[in-house]
Amino acid sequence: MYNAKAYSAASATSPLAHTTITRRDPTDSDVQIEILFCGICHSDLHQVRNEWSGVMPTVYPCVPGHEIVGRVTKVGSAVTKFKTGDLAAVGCMVDSDGTCPECREGLEQFCPNLTLTYNFPDKHTGGVTYGGYSESVVVDQRFVLRVPSNLNPAGAAPLLCAGITTWSPMHHWGVTKGKKVGVVGLGGLGHMGVKFAHALGARVVVFTTSPSKKDDALRLGADEVVISRNADEMAKHAGSFDFILDAVSADHDINAYIGLLRRDGNLTLVGAPEKPLALAAFGLIMGRRSLSGSPIGGIAETQEMLDFCGKHNITSDVEVIPIQKVNEAYERLVKADVKYRFSIDMASLKAA
Ligand code: NAP
Ligand code: ZN
Repeated sequence: MYNAKAYSAASATSPLAHTTITRRDPTDSDVQIEILFCGICHSDLHQVRNEWSGVMPTVYPCVPGHEIVGRVTKVGSAVTKFKTGDLAAVGCMVDSDGTCPECREGLEQFCPNLTLTYNFPDKHTGGVTYGGYSESVVVDQRFVLRVPSNLNPAGAAPLLCAGITTWSPMHHWGVTKGKKVGVVGLGGLGHMGVKFAHALGARVVVFTTSPSKKDDALRLGADEVVISRNADEMAKHAGSFDFILDAVSADHDINAYIGLLRRDGNLTLVGAPEKPLALAAFGLIMGRRSLSGSPIGGIAETQEMLDFCGKHNITSDVEVIPIQKVNEAYERLVKADVKYRFSIDMASLKAA
């Protein structure tokens, strides 16, 4: 075991603060990574504030962070995929059983014995896993990703959650050229959804509550922007979408979007608000529309997404901050005031 500097929350109402955690020494199959950048996902905020207490209660102290890019500093004797000095990344998962049908299909995100990057039982330490708001992390090589060398590491970090979470359902639901795709909520996830849908050749419409994001939405790849509080603008799109990705972090009316789907269209929720959403049955019944959800994506699929980003030079639009500004960043996240992902420069932790 060794000590590592980190930022943790002591309770649902405490700010994040400097702390020291212990990490395991790398085993034969482990990769040790010095963290360069870690994105701030709205899930970090939900978890730190125990907003998902019914499903995933938070264990304190909580060290969040699952959008990790760093430099390999040590590898175990059985590690073949990485060597010291490589750029590497870790997302939301750090372990799974590797033997269940889900793992065998490359769908580790559905493994019944999955270990998430933070706030999950840690078989190595006996405590809980600690995430990327830290100077280093030790992860089994199966859960470490390669980062294309042309990508800026600060902007690549958010691909590990915001990227794969929007990429995976778009592939599952067949977003391709000629499809009409809606993206609801232009935050960290939403802006990646726009970039991917555009790169895949779809016609993209962004739904936002923030009129100030209109120009950005068009620059990011949207063909049209709808201010979702304007009922007339919404009505123009009734019954026309093949697929809508809902990436909203707070309570909102999903029925308004279900009505915009064409026959057999699908709305996938990736946003995970604290409170249950109300659903009007007839919106789905009329038009045989479907509503589904989607969690992150598998490891092979995540690598595929990273390689696609390398090829198309896609990264997240980031505001790089020092770790000392993390609490301020959380306050801004609640107000939808981020363009479009905070990425923490972990070098700032050395000074803490
Ligand atoms: P984010 O950057 O804070 O973006 C959320 C966006 O939702 C905001 O920018 C805003 O967009 C919109 N919004 C916020 N409050 C709203 C309200 N009251 N009514 C309508 N729209 C509102 O968050 P994120 O990091 O992208 O995460 C989004 C959600 O996805 C979170 O709930 C997060 O936990 C969840 N998530 C799920 C997965 C998964 O695997 N399924 C993975 C990662 C994150 P506009 O300003 O454009 O309206
Ligand atoms: Zn996330």
